[in-house]
Amino acid sequence: MKRVLITGAAGFLGSHLCERFVKDGYHVIGMDNLITGRLKNIEHLFTLAHFEFYNHDVSKFIHVPGELNYILHFASPASPIDYLKIPIQTLKVGSLGIHNCLGLAKAKGARLMIASTSEVYGDPSVHPQPESYWGNVNPVGPRGVYDEAKRFQEAITMAYHTYHSLETRIVRIFNTYGPRMRLNDGRVLPAFIGQALRGEDLTIFGDGSQTRSFCYVDDLIEGIVRLLHSDCPDPVNIGNPDQITIGQFAEEIIALTGTNQKVIYKDLPIDDPKQRQPDITKARTLLGWEPKIDRKEGLQRTYAYFRSLSEDELRQTDHNNFDQYITK
Ligand code: UDP
Repeated sequence: MKRVLITGAAGFLGSHLCERFVKDGYHVIGMDNLITGRLKNIEHLFTLAHFEFYNHDVSKFIHVPGELNYILHFASPASPIDYLKIPIQTLKVGSLGIHNCLGLAKAKGARLMIASTSEVYGDPSVHPQPESYWGNVNPVGPRGVYDEAKRFQEAITMAYHTYHSLETRIVRIFNTYGPRMRLNDGRVLPAFIGQALRGEDLTIFGDGSQTRSFCYVDDLIEGIVRLLHSDCPDPVNIGNPDQITIGQFAEEIIALTGTNQKVIYKDLPIDDPKQRQPDITKARTLLGWEPKIDRKEGLQRTYAYFRSLSEDELRQTDHNNFDQYITK
């Protein structure tokens, strides 16, 4: 039985990865320090013989007994609110954390994949973004702690690949949504759905003309698995190229939820990318992958998840913190 370590196991993507690898017949070791992850996301796996969980901070030395075939480093805060609240931890998990994972992969002879991000392209001047684009990142802005950690993570991973011949994979993940997103993490989809469910107006930042391209989580996980088993050490974009403005997206959420609320406009956060759309030519040709679940279907599945949450969960919100991040 192959053994895989997944860091960030209790997070949105980590929990879906744990499920997928358990289903594919792996022994899965999940690791998380629960700073942004939640045990609730993986508690249904705890009864399984081939799932273990370590409550550990990957920025500190990692010890895992036994063999490891794969390591997937998915631990990181991943929303603008999180970077603002825990900027140092964000930088540490993307630097010290990946260094520990690389050392472990080298010691175990494991193949390592890192979760990189479309944030390496910053506020892009090339559109859509191919892997060959080097990006437009502000290192000292509020997003810099995340963007630069992820860029460093790519650099050190590539250095271990070339210098130590380690088998490595780099997935550049574009906006992804689905069940188990944190309602209060400030991301646009849980923000809008949470507002609709609580009977609040939907907050559009800026004039709503900025674009994003949303990928349903199951499609993303399939792309990740294919990339892991490919022989490509270079970065590969995984995302859904179906682009939409945030204004249109708000209209879709209003139609989906049937809310009577309206949209209200707030200031645009600093360095908020104006446009984002993956060029997935490489994933299509190299992995034979492309997304299959359209936004209508994906949003219905995601809405069903959010509707199943308790009143208490719906009321938990960190939105006040976001004000610090708004341009004055
Ligand atoms: N956004 C918004 N209202 C909200 C939360 C976010 O209009 O309540 C905007 C945000 O400014 C950005 C887009 O939605 O332009 C996507 O934001 P998110 O944080 O989900 O992802 P990212 O900016 O990292 O792509």
